[in-house]
Amino acid sequence: MRSSHAIATPGATPGAPLTGRRVAIIEDDRTTAMIAERVCRSLGASDTVVCADRASAALTLTDPRAPVDVVLLDMALDADDGIAALRHLGPELVRAEIVPVSRRDPRLLDAAARLLAGRGFRVHAPIVKPLPAAKLDEVLSGATVLPPAFGSGPPQPRREELAGALSRDEFVPFYQVQCDIGTLRPRGAEVLARWNRANGSLIAPGRFVPGLEAAGLIGAMTERLLARALDDLVSLGPAQDGFGLALNISAPSLADPTLPDRLHGIVTAHAMDTGRVTFEITESAVLHDPLALLEGAARLRLHGFRLAIDDFGTGWSSLELLRALPFTELKIDRSFVSGAPEDCARQVILRNTVAMARELGLDIVAEGVETEAERAFLASLGVPVIQGWLSGRPVPFADLAASLARGLSQPHPEPPA
Ligand code: C2E
Ligand code: CA
Ligand code: CA
Repeated sequence: MRSSHAIATPGATPGAPLTGRRVAIIEDDRTTAMIAERVCRSLGASDTVVCADRASAALTLTDPRAPVDVVLLDMALDADDGIAALRHLGPELVRAEIVPVSRRDPRLLDAAARLLAGRGFRVHAPIVKPLPAAKLDEVLSGATVLPPAFGSGPPQPRREELAGALSRDEFVPFYQVQCDIGTLRPRGAEVLARWNRANGSLIAPGRFVPGLEAAGLIGAMTERLLARALDDLVSLGPAQDGFGLALNISAPSLADPTLPDRLHGIVTAHAMDTGRVTFEITESAVLHDPLALLEGAARLRLHGFRLAIDDFGTGWSSLELLRALPFTELKIDRSFVSGAPEDCARQVILRNTVAMARELGLDIVAEGVETEAERAFLASLGVPVIQGWLSGRPVPFADLAASLARGLSQPHPEPPA
């Protein structure tokens, strides 16, 4: 049996995601491969080539005379697997976009996709077989290329550029409300940094926070953000007396022994109670100096600040961090919330996380709540507070003030980053 063959297709469907593109189907089952070819051609592929084993896949994917644009990768090749098939070639050789496909457990498929993305391949969201044309269309059309599970992230600005932005006070607070799960009434807000550039563009934190950390400037930005957010809070007047603020604090900031005192000074200068401010620490923090982290966290608590463990459940050491630091709140990560009403594993994790947080006497906030079904499920578990697009996106202060004046949070579109 030939291990690979190619079919040229006449006339591409205008606007279809595979229009004019060459697709390699790495698949050892003949019938499945034929169905996949038909699906690809219906989506406009100009050319499809089936590879039934690793050797033919290697030849096809590295042939400079006929570059492949998209790869449908069967993750369970006979006596082999899709990861091995690509790994030995490497992302430098394989520049095609990869769509992992399998009949296997969706969680295994998801993990495999993330692994490939983490190794530098351009990976789309995986598809569980059979392969409906509509699903492939959706996956290829959307901007659903997975971010690398680990890696360098987006390029960061130079130190001088960041220092200039700090001196011009260009880092501004956006606010995302945290709401009572039953009434959706805001109890407080998480302050999320945005870089408001002189040219009017607004930049998301992933594109400057790591740069500020590396440049040793993140603590200074946190101070500015806290001061501005407290100015905003004060301007709301006594009507918002119970309203709390949550700020993210980076590991390098916590290692600075003078920062807790300065943060305390900023709050008292606004005649505020430190108990209204929560600092959110992410688990990646534990990868830095654990003793310095413990000292910084303890100092913040001694000053009366509240401490949240952010993105709970996403790192390698969440339970250890939870045990070691004096947290007052646990923030359940979006990855457990998203899709929970239809996913048994997430439900088990959520139920047990809530029970554990309760027994430890921690406040609980669920992040990334986007749908009413997710809200209802979390409410059934007794989660008291939610944060997410359902109750409001991050907005500038003027929009927060307006929605608080209306008495309820309302979802607002965030200006483009
Ligand atoms: P985070 O602390 O986990 O913040 C929540 C992120 O999830 C925010 O992204 C928010 O816009 C997004 N989000 C909230 N609700 C939903 C939802 O329902 N669906 C979806 N898909 N996303 C939702 P953002 O603002 O881009 O911030 C990204 C991260 O940048 C933050 O993650 C935080 O780790 C970091 N960051 C933001 N501001 C600061 C800061 O002032 N200092 C430090 N050190 N890090 C910051
Ligand atoms: Ca946070
Ligand atoms: Ca978070």
